[in-house]
Parts: sequence; C-alpha cells; structure tokens
Amino acid sequence: MHSQRTSDVSPQAPLAVDFLIIGGGIAGLSCALALARVGHRVLVLEKGDGLNNRGGGGMRVPPNMSKVLFHWGLKPVLRRVALTSTPILFSKFHTGEILGIQKWDDELLRETRGEFMLMTHHDLYQVIYDAAVALGVKIRFNVEVADIDPDERAVQLANGEILTADVLIGADGEKGMCRRLMFDGRERVQPTGYTIYDVTFSALRAMEKMDDETKKLVKFEDNTVFAAFGNRMGASGYPIGNREKLAFHFFMPEESTDAAYGDPPATGLKDLVRDQCDARLKVVVDEATDVHRLSVNNHENLDDWVHDSSNLVVVGQAAHPIAPGGIQGTAMVIEDAAVLAKLFSHLHSKDQISNFLYAFQDLRQKRCYEAHESELGMIMLFTMEDGPEQEERDRSMQEKYRAGKNVFDAGDSDMGAEGGEQWTQIRTIFGYDCEDEADNWWVQWGLLRERAQSGSQPNGRQSQAGAFDWSAVQIVDQDTSEPTPNGLMTIRC
Ligand SMILES: Cc1cc2nc3c(=O)[nH]c(=O)nc-3n(C[C@H](O)[C@H](O)[C@H](O)COP(=O)(O)OP(=O)(O)OC[C@H]3O[C@@H](n4cnc5c(N)ncnc54)[C@H](O)[C@@H]3O)c2cc1C
Repeated sequence: MHSQRTSDVSPQAPLAVDFLIIGGGIAGLSCALALARVGHRVLVLEKGDGLNNRGGGGMRVPPNMSKVLFHWGLKPVLRRVALTSTPILFSKFHTGEILGIQKWDDELLRETRGEFMLMTHHDLYQVIYDAAVALGVKIRFNVEVADIDPDERAVQLANGEILTADVLIGADGEKGMCRRLMFDGRERVQPTGYTIYDVTFSALRAMEKMDDETKKLVKFEDNTVFAAFGNRMGASGYPIGNREKLAFHFFMPEESTDAAYGDPPATGLKDLVRDQCDARLKVVVDEATDVHRLSVNNHENLDDWVHDSSNLVVVGQAAHPIAPGGIQGTAMVIEDAAVLAKLFSHLHSKDQISNFLYAFQDLRQKRCYEAHESELGMIMLFTMEDGPEQEERDRSMQEKYRAGKNVFDAGDSDMGAEGGEQWTQIRTIFGYDCEDEADNWWVQWGLLRERAQSGSQPNGRQSQAGAFDWSAVQIVDQDTSEPTPNGLMTIRC
C-alpha cells in the first residue's frame, strides 16, 4: 500500500496520549487519522486482513462528508478515485417514465463547502488508510479483540495478548462486542420491513438498454445519479470507479434483520422483482452476479456512548447503526472522527479525557439519530405505496420537469408532505459543519469549564465527569456585583 501526505495545518494537542481503536473499518481508520492529525498516538486493531473487511460496492459522499475529507487534505486523492456528481434523474421504477431532474445548485454547494461525490467503499478505505499510515498510525490486521476491560483501559486479543492505552475507542460496527458491552447484551433490533440489495453492474451493458429520451437527458460525464420510485420498491444507481461500473441499491419489501455487509453474495433479488420493473433495471436484476443483501433495521438508540469508567467511547456504526444504501451512513462516521479529534486537540491534561468523551456524545447523538430517521424517510419516499399521496408526488415532480425546473425547487409546490420535509432535512444535513460545532463547544463550554475547574481546584471542588459544573459558576448582576469568592467563575450580565 502506498502512502500520501495530508494537510498538516491542524493544531497539535498540548498533551499527546495513547488511543487504542477496536475495529479498523472506516470509523476506526478515520478516527485514527483524525486523532493522529492533532498529534495523538494511535493503534488500530482489525480482525480482517485489510481487504476482506471492505467492499467493492458504491457509496455516495455528501457535501457534509466531503468537506471534512477536503479539510483533512484529501481533496487531490479523492479527485483521482471519486466522481463528482450534480444531477439526479428521477423515474418510475415500474415503467421507466421520467418524473424529473434535480441539479445540485452551485449556491447550495458553495454554502456547504463540499461536493457530492460517488466512489467505492474499497477506494475510500484505501484513501483513509494511506493518510493514517502516513501520519504514523499503527494498524494491526488479522487481530481479533476477544475481551475488553474498560475499567483497566485494557483489551485482550484472541491470542491472549493484553494491550492498554489511555483511551479505548469502540469502532467494531453494529454487531461488534463494544455495542453489546454498552447494551449489556440487551439491544432490541426491529426489522423495518425493507431489505436492500447492493449491486455493481457493467455501465456499458446498462447503457445499451437506455432509451433515446433518457440518453438525451443523461450526460455521462455529469455522473448522473438515477432514482427510481416504485410501489413498495425502488432503486438508485450511479457510476463508480472510472465509470466502467454502476452501483445500484434496490429497496425491496422483505423482512430481515441479519443480512449485512461482508456476507457471501446473495440471490433472491430476481424473485422479488419478477417482471415488475422498467426494462433498463430488469437487465441489471437479471444479469447481476455481484449482489449483497442488507437488512434495514431499526436499532434501539444507545443512551450512553461513553462507558461508566469514562475510558471507552463507541463511534460509527457501533454507536449509531444507520440504514445501508443511503447517503449519510458513512458521512456520520467521518463526522464522528472529525469531532472527536477537534475535542482532543485541546488536551493538556488526562483529567480532561472524560469531559471530552461526554462532549463528543452530546455533540453527536442527536445528529446521528436524526440522520438515521432521515435515511429511513428517504427509503419511504422511494417506495411510497401507490395511492393519492404518490399521485400528488408524481404530478408535482412532472409539472416542474415540464416547466424546466428542478423537482425539489423550494417554493411554489412540493412533492407531497413526505417529499418536501425530506428535502428540507437533506439541505440542513448537507450544510452542517461538524468541526464548527466542536469548535463552538470548546469556546462556549470547554474553556468555561476549564476556567471554572482551575479556579475551583484549590478549594478541592471537582465537577462530575462529563457534566458542566454549574455550582462552580456564579452569575451576578453587573451593577450590584460583589467580589468573586475564591474558586468561582463569574458571568456578568
Ligand atoms: C466488508 C464490508 C463491506 C462494506 N461495503 C460497503 C459498501 O460497499 N458501501 C457502503 O456504503 N458501505 C459498506 N460497508 C459499510 C460501511 O463500512 C459502514 O456503513 C460505515 O461506513 C463504517 O462503519 P464502521 O466502521 O463503524 O463499521 P464497519 O464497517 O462494520 O467496521 C467495523 C470493523 O470492525 C472490525 N471488527 C469487528 N469486531 C472486531 C473485533 N472483535 N476485533 C477486531 N476488529 C473487529 C470489523 O472487521 C470491521 O472491519 C461495508 C462494511 C464492511 C464491513
């Protein structure tokens, strides 16, 4: 594996500590890279061999994710392996009839400071791996963590070896031991009634089947994303790699909870679709060999991402499993890494560790849970059952299409309650800057707490781990302020 340099402009933490990351998927590697960028020492333990724990399937990189990767100095290497896309073409899953077009407008993209990119899981893994290794991250493959003792900040490997660190990070995925540990083994997982079939397929073969109207609309070099809305089923597709392949996600009405990335290739898509779809999609369904089946589950939300010991935090899919086949699953993982590193860039004492871990939880939980809800909402929009709401959605889209407008243009009409709401959510999610949020936390709370604590320590007052200690703050009226008692921080108002 070759190395490449990342931007070196990030501030270095005054105190460097040792992180041990359980799981070297995208979450583990991106946390490692982000923490190493701010000067920490990181060891990643991954049970796979570095190849069998990644996939050749496609992923969409939304602007809120690409802006973080750009900030990490990865723009040039992403330009080599990812395609930038602006248009989405909407059609009917069953007939192929065109519903409309959406082009990401320049203003939205400028606002977000990111791009909408398309790439493979395999390539993203390589980009992050290379950058992490270049910054000195140590990664051990073929190493399975068999036991964790957060109180002792220790893990035991399957070969009996014991390793310790200052902070443990659980990045071992939705089925990993860290999530089980945090749930005490009692997590409730419910099926949503949908299963996704991930497919990669020859772009040439798919293009052969394209009708003239679609050919006129689709400029290959624009890297169009296709979205097909159907009656309780749907699909999206887009080019990946050097455009030789298309990645598809088929959303099918099938109850399952156990199907996951890494399982052997699946069959069964053909039986579910039968002859119910547009001829262009039918060719993909009939001829695809590289098919992966993925359950869309509703996982119980984990209240605490930080272990009671304050020595272990869960991140990525281990903290917040997000439905596959969507836009935000991997984006939330990258945002986790960026926020964690921003917080730990301020580390000057090990006493701050627990506070930073709880701040991470506070900053990330709501956002990740909302992203999951939004992803489920998108699946519902794709697979809306035929009826009055679906007719209204289609009518509204086609009206705009005929008028030469973007289907999601705000203002005059919407795509039914579900569609309009989904779109507002998407714009908000794209515009979010997770690193700004972490900076804001530091300015608003972190520094305040630091000052309060340093002032209170001579009196022996300690705040609880993770909670801001309001008892260390005194709010006084500016006009009638008394002298500040020793150990209290004063806010004047
Ligand atoms: C094989 C594979 C293929 C994938 N392909 C795609 C794709 O094509 N498109 C897409 O959008 N997403 C894909 N994903 C999912 C994607 O990685 C996640 O959705 C997300 O981006 C990253 O999540 P994560 O790193 O938190 O979890 P995961 O990706 O699940 O990574 C967790 C890692 O922890 C490791 N691990 C688990 N237990 C232990 C242990 N006890 N000791 C050591 N290591 C352990 C696992 O081997 C795995 O590498 C794939 C995931 C996997 C594992």
